Amino acid sequence: MYDTAIIGGGLTGCATAWRLAEDGAKVILLERDEINSAASGANAGSLHVQIPHDPFVRLGPDWAAAFSQTLPLLLDSIDLWREVESRLGTDLEVSMTGGLLVAASEAEMRQIERKAAIERAAGVTVELLSASALKDRAPYLSGRLTGGAYCPTEGKANPLLCAPAFAKAANRLGASLLSGCEVAAIERGREGFELTTSQGLVKARRIVNAAGAASGRIAQMAGMRMDIEAFPIQLSVTAPAAPLVSHLVYAAAEKLTLKQTRAGSIIIGGGWPARLDAAGRPVVDPKALARNVKLAVDTVPGLADVELLRTWAAFVNGNADWRPIIGEAPGAPGFFMAYAPWIGFTASLATASIVADLAQGKTPQTRADLSCFAPR
Ligand SMILES: Cc1cc2nc3c(=O)[nH]c(=O)nc-3n(C[C@H](O)[C@H](O)[C@H](O)COP(=O)(O)OP(=O)(O)OC[C@H]3O[C@@H](n4cnc5c(N)ncnc54)[C@H](O)[C@@H]3O)c2cc1C
Repeated sequence: MYDTAIIGGGLTGCATAWRLAEDGAKVILLERDEINSAASGANAGSLHVQIPHDPFVRLGPDWAAAFSQTLPLLLDSIDLWREVESRLGTDLEVSMTGGLLVAASEAEMRQIERKAAIERAAGVTVELLSASALKDRAPYLSGRLTGGAYCPTEGKANPLLCAPAFAKAANRLGASLLSGCEVAAIERGREGFELTTSQGLVKARRIVNAAGAASGRIAQMAGMRMDIEAFPIQLSVTAPAAPLVSHLVYAAAEKLTLKQTRAGSIIIGGGWPARLDAAGRPVVDPKALARNVKLAVDTVPGLADVELLRTWAAFVNGNADWRPIIGEAPGAPGFFMAYAPWIGFTASLATASIVADLAQGKTPQTRADLSCFAPR
């Protein structure tokens, strides 16, 4: 009998396993494929704090006000990102050089100002920049931009390194990690839960659902309906280039994130939709790729000289209102949700830390109002 069974070997699950194992809990992590084989290993590695601009424009101020309840969670996570390398004793290529959201018109600049007011009210540091201040701070950006917003608490990490580092650290502390172990059913047992898996029956007092895009299906196994979906999105990487982009860069015009990795490659994304093939697997959409790359070159003209190497598509976990779902499920004592949509790489460390505390009956150290994220 385990204290806790964690379903999902992405960053959220692995970080939760590490936190619980650190506290001496008897933990098992069940991963249907390989550790870090889903979104946590396929993402862009951006550490976000600013409210995403695209939904801000599309969904409006009410959505932004609701989303601002997530900002304290992101700030908590950034604090954890800052200390994670020393806690784990591993280089994860974490770098906090700040994020720049840029405007290509006065209208976009007004949107950025409105968004910055909401961010500041939630405790996020955002500096509005004129065109010339933007040019001084980031001379590599297009001279046609009209201004922007700088958030010093944003950054990046290498997604290929993070979940495996947590998995290794958790394993060193005694956590059991099972790859190729798919959870197929969940029943209530006498003392907790019985999980039917592809590797046999697993018994645990508590369950942490960290299954990312499949979290809705896992919740359903425990008798709950949650509107969590898998959305195919795509991302590109260039060949290594000389130092060019020193911030996490976003554009207000359309979806864009870009950053340069320590190896010199530039990751270009922003959540452009991919397609599904006949088998339902995510595949790259060339039209979305063309628009994404054009916007990238318009924003950072020096990118025109860099070779694009590869574009890939993967499922991201999403829900329409962007609300994280974190905590013990009502009506299912002992079943904990550890879920943060769309920008779950950033949020994963705080999500894991909160859930690890809740699962042990401890009060989490967080500046977020957890009632906003309670499973419904
Ligand atoms: C292309 C792309 C770019 C992104 N860019 C960013 C970014 O720059 N910054 C950011 O903050 N976020 C980004 N995201 C989102 C982020 O990657 C995810 O929100 C986050 O990684 C989710 O982590 P997770 O550990 O909760 O889930 P996942 O990493 O999806 O892991 C869940 C795991 O559960 C396993 N699982 C599912 N069902 C079962 C089952 N029945 N039994 C056992 N195991 C199961 C899966 O195999 C998977 O390994 C991006 C996502 C994508 C796809």
